[in-house]
Amino acid sequence: MIQFDCHVHSVASGHAFGTMEEIAAYCRTFHLDGFALTDHGPAMPGSASWIYFSAIRMVPRELQGVKILRGIEANLMDYKGQLDLEDSLLKKLDVVIASFHDLLIQPKTRQEHTQALVAAAQNPLVDILGHTGRGGYDYDIPTVLKACRDTGTMIEVNRWTLKGDPSNSICYEIARGCKELNVPIVINSDAHTADQVGRVDEAYELVRSLGIPDEQIINRTYASFQAHQEKRKPWLDFS
Ligand SMILES: [Zn+2]
Ligand SMILES: [Zn+2]
Repeated sequence: MIQFDCHVHSVASGHAFGTMEEIAAYCRTFHLDGFALTDHGPAMPGSASWIYFSAIRMVPRELQGVKILRGIEANLMDYKGQLDLEDSLLKKLDVVIASFHDLLIQPKTRQEHTQALVAAAQNPLVDILGHTGRGGYDYDIPTVLKACRDTGTMIEVNRWTLKGDPSNSICYEIARGCKELNVPIVINSDAHTADQVGRVDEAYELVRSLGIPDEQIINRTYASFQAHQEKRKPWLDFS
């Protein structure tokens, strides 16, 4: 069971439909610990500007008894791992996911995709590599997972990527690699409406079917995720 969903979009993304209050109310009803607001970075058409991310510290740490972390799903903009928000702003966010989106970056070679993901994993401001099992950006899985293991960067198993099919071979291969190399995992909904938050059953079953222990799933509770982030980002105050 996943109690803290750390990949959730709100209306600020421009193509998602829940407000922060609606998402918190949903979490409260279904007894989830909370969620991270991770709206798309400014390069995504229709998403929030850098000003939104600079003001996000106004978001309360708790709403209706539900924990909220302040984050972003930043866009990988080139094959050197460049993101679409400047470092001084990324540094203030509790959770930074880095993802490829084909609206913004055209797939190239396996080597270039691998290079970008390794650079993102090695960026101390990036916490999670988002939906790397989605396909379209084929990469060398062991190379990227080793970079994650060495840096503590988390690999996301994303509910949408699985599309209800746990036999999705890329996700399976990635999760198996995470087990072998002891890479920290997060299991997320990537919700674009409030009612999708925390709905990750297929992804959770996939991970558990491989015998991955609970301790390796960092967002099993708010407390476990917070403890991980406090170590990664000692300059932030999570209290
Ligand atoms: Zn995404
Ligand atoms: Zn997303």
